[in-house]
Amino acid sequence: MGESARKVDVAIVGGGMAGASLALMLSHFCPQLRVALLEQRALPDAAASIQLPSFDTRATAIAAGSLQLFQELGLWPALQAYSASIERIHVSDRGHAFGASLSSREGQGVNFEGILGAVIENAALGPILHSALARTSTQLLAPAQVTDINMTSAGANLLWRAGENSLDQSLSCGLVVAADGVNSPLCRQLGIEISSVKYQQRALVTTVGLQKPHNGVAYERFTRLGPMALLPLPDREGHHRAALVWACEEAEAERVSAMSEPERLEKLQQIFGWRAGRFIKVGAVQGYPLSLSIAQEQWRRNVVLMGNCAHFLHPVAGQGFNLTLRDCYGLAQALSTVSPDALPGRLDFLREYGEMRRLDQQLTIGFSDRIPMLFSSSGWLQQGIRQLGMLGLTMVPPLRREFVGQAAGFGL
Ligand SMILES: Cc1cc2nc3c(=O)[nH]c(=O)nc-3n(C[C@H](O)[C@H](O)[C@H](O)COP(=O)(O)OP(=O)(O)OC[C@H]3O[C@@H](n4cnc5c(N)ncnc54)[C@H](O)[C@@H]3O)c2cc1C
Repeated sequence: MGESARKVDVAIVGGGMAGASLALMLSHFCPQLRVALLEQRALPDAAASIQLPSFDTRATAIAAGSLQLFQELGLWPALQAYSASIERIHVSDRGHAFGASLSSREGQGVNFEGILGAVIENAALGPILHSALARTSTQLLAPAQVTDINMTSAGANLLWRAGENSLDQSLSCGLVVAADGVNSPLCRQLGIEISSVKYQQRALVTTVGLQKPHNGVAYERFTRLGPMALLPLPDREGHHRAALVWACEEAEAERVSAMSEPERLEKLQQIFGWRAGRFIKVGAVQGYPLSLSIAQEQWRRNVVLMGNCAHFLHPVAGQGFNLTLRDCYGLAQALSTVSPDALPGRLDFLREYGEMRRLDQQLTIGFSDRIPMLFSSSGWLQQGIRQLGMLGLTMVPPLRREFVGQAAGFGL
């Protein structure tokens, strides 16, 4: 590596959804900055895409506000080809008559080209983000595991290696962005505390085959056994499909994971009910332990935290990646006027970023936390509030608008 390649303005550690999205935003909005992205594993490509944790068998609901950002990056046509549109969100409480159906008509300006969002399988999202990134001037270092960080007055020095038996190499940068996931080794090294509350739940994720088309409806269903989301997926080989995410107790998750396919199919149908018609097939299930983990510092001099490393949310409201995209956009805005000779990790730039993002983060984290808590409980008080909530969503236009606005990713 030449001397110039050993020094960049911004180094992003982690090439998952957060790191890759930030690199794309910086390349688009801050072309004056030299950016490097370091990922410890091989980068995803269309042929073998499931290498990074971000781009596994999950599907992601991308809200309308985020689609607008992808449109600005020129990525919407590529995403559209692999995604299913969300035209309506149906929220209901299993076992009760009320349900609220929310469409883009409920709020002015909270849709993107007439849709509330789109759902894309992560295995398709990875190659889209990374092939776009390969066309930018971002320096892509992979496999490159960051093993040590030393803060300096002008930024940070990173030590990284390409593999177990490789020699350490160094990279200095003005700003280091930790996008290395929920158990961020970088945060530990920097002594940044993460507050974490476990939900005592696991998210079970699978794909179901549907007998009838989903018609672009995303369901949020609150059941006695935990909240369940059923998200529309593009048809494959003529089969209608949906992604199912169910947050349930650990023991329940173990039981369902051990079931045969016919047993699992029957169980999931029984829990979800019949609003989306008959489930005719179910894939393997993956489980994800759930917690609300928030880094106590989202930024400090010469350092910013991004993605799961900054905030790991309950997935039922589909907000984690959408919030991260808005954070990435905020950071790109704050750095867009930084001249190449200024230090991008300066406190005044980062303070502007932090202040710009604080309210949206607080509201989105609160929204994601309250929904599963409220809807997981079978207590009579929570049930009462839930019914009022459902009625409220059904009857009261401002409440509906607020919900649609948040769900559609127009946080702030
Ligand atoms: C079940 C589930 C469903 C979800 N559904 C939605 C949804 O519908 N909508 C939504 O908005 N959000 C959703 N989310 C949230 C979304 O998945 C996260 O926002 C996203 O995964 C954030 O990824 P990340 O890049 O921050 O972290 P990660 O995916 O963990 O990526 C971190 C990367 O850093 C790399 N790394 C780690 N250490 C090092 C090192 N030392 N050196 C170099 N590289 C390193 C890792 O290899 C990895 O590639 C969901 C989450 C879950 C769990």
